[in-house]
Amino acid sequence: MNAAEFRRRGKEMVDFVADYLENLEQRPVYPDVKPGYLQSLIPTEAPLEPENYEEIMKDVERVIMPGITHWHSPYFYAYFPAASSYPAMLADLLCGAIGCIGFSWAASPACTELETVMLDWLAKMLQLPASFIAGTHGQGGGVIQGSASEATLMSLLAARCKAVRRILSIKPEMSEPEILNKLVAYTSEQSHSSVERAGLIGGVMMKKVPTDSTYAVTGDMLKKIVEKDKEAGLIPFYFCATLGTTASCAFDHISELGLICNEENMWMHVDAAYAGSAFICPEFRPLLNGVEFADSFNLNPHKWLLINFDCSAMWVKKRHDMIGAFKVEPLYLRHENQESGLVTDYRHWQIPLGRRFRSLKMWFVFRMYGLQGLQAHIRKQVALAKEFESLVQADKRFEICADVIMGLVCFRLKGSNELNQNLLKKITKSREIHLVPCHLSGRFVLRFAICSRTTESRHIRKAWRHITQLTFELLKNPIQ
Ligand code: PLP
Repeated sequence: MNAAEFRRRGKEMVDFVADYLENLEQRPVYPDVKPGYLQSLIPTEAPLEPENYEEIMKDVERVIMPGITHWHSPYFYAYFPAASSYPAMLADLLCGAIGCIGFSWAASPACTELETVMLDWLAKMLQLPASFIAGTHGQGGGVIQGSASEATLMSLLAARCKAVRRILSIKPEMSEPEILNKLVAYTSEQSHSSVERAGLIGGVMMKKVPTDSTYAVTGDMLKKIVEKDKEAGLIPFYFCATLGTTASCAFDHISELGLICNEENMWMHVDAAYAGSAFICPEFRPLLNGVEFADSFNLNPHKWLLINFDCSAMWVKKRHDMIGAFKVEPLYLRHENQESGLVTDYRHWQIPLGRRFRSLKMWFVFRMYGLQGLQAHIRKQVALAKEFESLVQADKRFEICADVIMGLVCFRLKGSNELNQNLLKKITKSREIHLVPCHLSGRFVLRFAICSRTTESRHIRKAWRHITQLTFELLKNPIQ
């Protein structure tokens, strides 16, 4: 493909994408394919001779689309949102064109510097404490990770390194393996599975802290378990709090928890993967109070801030906690400005070496929506969740299972888990709307998350009519 053909095909692709997104609600949101469906539709070997573009595009509809779960359909209510907007898609195209691998400042100065400034912009939108802002001489700062899972893992590894160094400095008689064996990390029993995985990958003990009736961890609960572990000779070093849990969007009490972590020399990481974006609205910002006690904080603009995957924003208060933990310096990655104190080399902040120019997406979206546009997006989705909650509340056969604070509604039919499982089976089979379940206090619960940027009140009401129609059929014939 030469530049002339690229111009033509590029314009066609933009039309294809706009048509796809504009007409998405006409497609079934959930695919009707069996495992292995795709293998039978394409050859088992790559072609020897070049093929033409038209044939490939025909195959997009024939091979790919039947197997797509349409995350941007206004009838997609599963998991949490995957953000999407036209400015972000255009920025992604530009990112592909520049195609730099920005592991160090020298590897592409604009890639590094725009990232630092965008994370500062976002930190200010969130009113994060000044200690998280890089500015020109700050000790903190932000980085774009690929996912909240990576942010949690990085924070845990940095905390582990810091804890080992601290213990060695006060108890030089202890060996490093001895210390590692005694380190213990904590998180809520409601936290995302990625936190448990961070413990497994980091090779440290991870204990689950029980939650209160709102599915949140309080200070008392953490304190109790930390005291017991200290008495048993363990070394508490890390706590991962969640603001907006995956199951029910519960908020751990980080003001109380942060105080305890600071007193106990424990690193507090705050995982606000989904709900964190909402803190750009002053009415939701109080939920972030206590972040001043945290060592690191993360949210996914690729969930709720109109920036397409991947873009997970992470801030640390002391960048040297990260850099100091993971620094290796081969000659081929060095550059003349690295010791100037004026540049960031993001390779020290992450697991891979290579990194894309993801901050372009932030820059385009922040400028084209403005803070007000982003706030309007969050508020609209929360209002839609509230609307869905009222529909559920008005039907006495159903119950709401957790406070609706943001864009997630947890609900169920009053009755057995089996009944609710059967309702979800019917919903999934219908392919008209898509939801996933969770367990809350041992009960099988349906999660209805407002996801697509294009979801409107009419979609919510249609989804509810669909759920009540399937409920009617189910209750007539409960044995499925
Ligand atoms: N933390 C929370 C609270 C989440 O809800 C999720 C995913 O939904 C994650 C972490 C994992 O996010 P990621 O896919 O960015 O690793």
